[in-house]
Amino acid sequence: MSAGESIRAIQALAHSLGRAVQLMEVCGTHTMAAFRTGLRSLLPDNVKLLSGPGCPVCVTPIDYVDKAVALAGRPDTVVATFGDMIRVPGSRESLEQARARGARVRVVYSPLDALAEARANPGTAVVFLGVGFETTAPTTAWALREAARDTPNFFVLCGHKTMPRAMAALLAGGEVRVDAFLCPGHVSVIIGSAPYEFIPRQYGRPCVVAGFEGEDLAAAIRMALRQLADGRAEVEVQYTRSVSREGNAKAQAAIREAFEECDAAWRGLGVIPGSGLRIRPEWAAHDAERLLAGLDRPPAREPKGCRCGDVLRGLCAPPECPLFRKVCTADQPVGACMVSSEGTCAAYYRFGKT
Ligand code: SF4
Repeated sequence: MSAGESIRAIQALAHSLGRAVQLMEVCGTHTMAAFRTGLRSLLPDNVKLLSGPGCPVCVTPIDYVDKAVALAGRPDTVVATFGDMIRVPGSRESLEQARARGARVRVVYSPLDALAEARANPGTAVVFLGVGFETTAPTTAWALREAARDTPNFFVLCGHKTMPRAMAALLAGGEVRVDAFLCPGHVSVIIGSAPYEFIPRQYGRPCVVAGFEGEDLAAAIRMALRQLADGRAEVEVQYTRSVSREGNAKAQAAIREAFEECDAAWRGLGVIPGSGLRIRPEWAAHDAERLLAGLDRPPAREPKGCRCGDVLRGLCAPPECPLFRKVCTADQPVGACMVSSEGTCAAYYRFGKT
């Protein structure tokens, strides 16, 4: 079915439903794609897209940024990170500001780049910032396995998280009405569609795993509305060219080898039981948490007036934040949701009208 046909089907389904419907696109890349392709503006008035907690940088709590800044201040230490993290404000300063003061902070494209830096500089502790969901956790796991062989000066500050429990936490919290989820495509390539099956079973909400083209998203929205119109709640996969029910067994094994499940703090959502990954005790020698002892860290404090937490829970859209476009801009971001290329505030800033 073409995107145009899906849009016509969406309009017919929305009309037959005859009520307001809120669909949450969990993934930040979906948020960007829905704006970029103009899909949002083509939806009927009674179908609303809510952005969810699927931007990895945005959901990383400020305490994690403070830890990274503290580590960057250690002597003979390099902090290596993906680009977006460097500008996220901490309670006192960002990594970018720490670098301007002389801290050694490197932008890398992979944990393996950080591993290479550690091997080239055996007298330096290289700390990789492991943030992201099941999509990025396998490469961090592979780097840890390599480091365990011969690179004692490679460390990971582990902030990896897993997605399905956060979706359930939003439903259990009951603050926002979500009628159906558009599940993240990249995460689902790794975990498969099976881990979402408890959501329809326990909460009665349809889940549709979506791809990233405009026609993928339009088709996924059509499938979610079809389920609502039929009174069904199931997990369906629109992104069948990349996502199976079982996912990528090799990547899942790598995650299990390096990490174990833990409770994790999410910006805006608080601590969600079982939603995080921590380094297994066998590889504790590479856990950067052990380098934090004795380092000065400020009490964690969110930027004044920033509503990132509400944005991440779907409780407000960025234009409802009093700082949006006035104080908080792409050049001078106040909160993580404006910094990240997958952030909801960044998407509204770039593509929205208000
Ligand atoms: S617009 Fe800026 S200050 Fe407001 S919620 Fe978004 S990131 Fe935070």
